[in-house]
Amino acid sequence: MRKVPFLDIGRMHQSIRDDLDAAYRRVTDSGWFIMGPELEAFEAEFAAYSGAKHCIGVGNGLEALHLLLRAYDIGPGDEVIVPSNTFIATWLAVSQCGAIPVPVEPCSDTYNLDPALLAAAITTRTRAIMPVHLYGQPADMDPINELAKKHGLKVIEDAAQSQGARYKGRCAGALADAAATSFYPGKNLGALGDGGAVLTSDDSVAARVRQLRNYGSTVKYQHDVAGFNTRLDELQAAFLRVKLPLLDAGNARRREIAALYTAGLAQADVVLPVVGADIESVWHLYVIRSKQRDALKAHLERAGVSTVIHYPTPPHLQACYPEYKDFSLPIAASQAGELLSLPMSPLLDQGDIDHVIQSVLSFR
Ligand SMILES: *Cc1c(COP(=O)(O)O)cnc(C)c1O
Repeated sequence: MRKVPFLDIGRMHQSIRDDLDAAYRRVTDSGWFIMGPELEAFEAEFAAYSGAKHCIGVGNGLEALHLLLRAYDIGPGDEVIVPSNTFIATWLAVSQCGAIPVPVEPCSDTYNLDPALLAAAITTRTRAIMPVHLYGQPADMDPINELAKKHGLKVIEDAAQSQGARYKGRCAGALADAAATSFYPGKNLGALGDGGAVLTSDDSVAARVRQLRNYGSTVKYQHDVAGFNTRLDELQAAFLRVKLPLLDAGNARRREIAALYTAGLAQADVVLPVVGADIESVWHLYVIRSKQRDALKAHLERAGVSTVIHYPTPPHLQACYPEYKDFSLPIAASQAGELLSLPMSPLLDQGDIDHVIQSVLSFR
């Protein structure tokens, strides 16, 4: 029986092994492992790719979000609007600063923050909105930015799942005041370990994040603020420099696969993903919805098709957030029981795609 893995990261590196080996040797021979020429070069290359003026490499995506909130002096007493249906990191970044995550529900078709629900969530304590470009699709940024401007709020994109995605022709990561992204190995642009970056065109925010990631220091052994140690290391930066030039081709292949899934599953008894107008998703995930999700997942498993649930429990129902357990967030809560992510990787071939489609269609 054919087996379709959910995502085969190891195999993705086979075709670029010589380049990765050369990057490894370049760094190990240089003897310089932290804050060196590879990081500087990657930051310039990724900033140019995204269209933001600055890129600051940090330890992971959560830290990228966290340092941005710190850079904006967001802390105790402040509120930050977050999606109710995101990965926990979006909320944790806010809580880590001592600020309060204020959840807003998503649109039921795109799964992204519903701009129509935002105004009601804004209070005198609101400082920022953190839309997530979930599953690779940018949120509807124009009304979000407009509302933020009206209320004097910052907009911070969580672009961890959307490297290379576009909204009205512009790249995710350059659609608001600042953005955070993640190079966790499973992301569209993944390192060979943890990594993340802040993107912004604001000089002073960029300078603050640079300082915060490196012990609050801009001059060695001089610490002007109580900072953190969260830096993208030279090896990961060198590996990312090998992988960045391949990102667009990988995203294009994901788009083809998504189109084949959507065409092939038109008659299936599941809800298919919808992409908004003027938006180019990079299909980090292809997420379908079914009332019989668990039975469908088991059926696919028996057919050799690996699937994953993103995410089985929304942040407000996690044990780490007991104060939210009685919040009424019915869209996030009900979707968590119905969502299922099909295999998605640039390496899927036509046989894999057909097998996934046939397996979903054969579920009764
Ligand atoms: C992966 C992810 C993060 C966190 O990135 P890490 O590098 O794993 O810390 C944040 N937000 C979203 C939406 C993510 O998918």
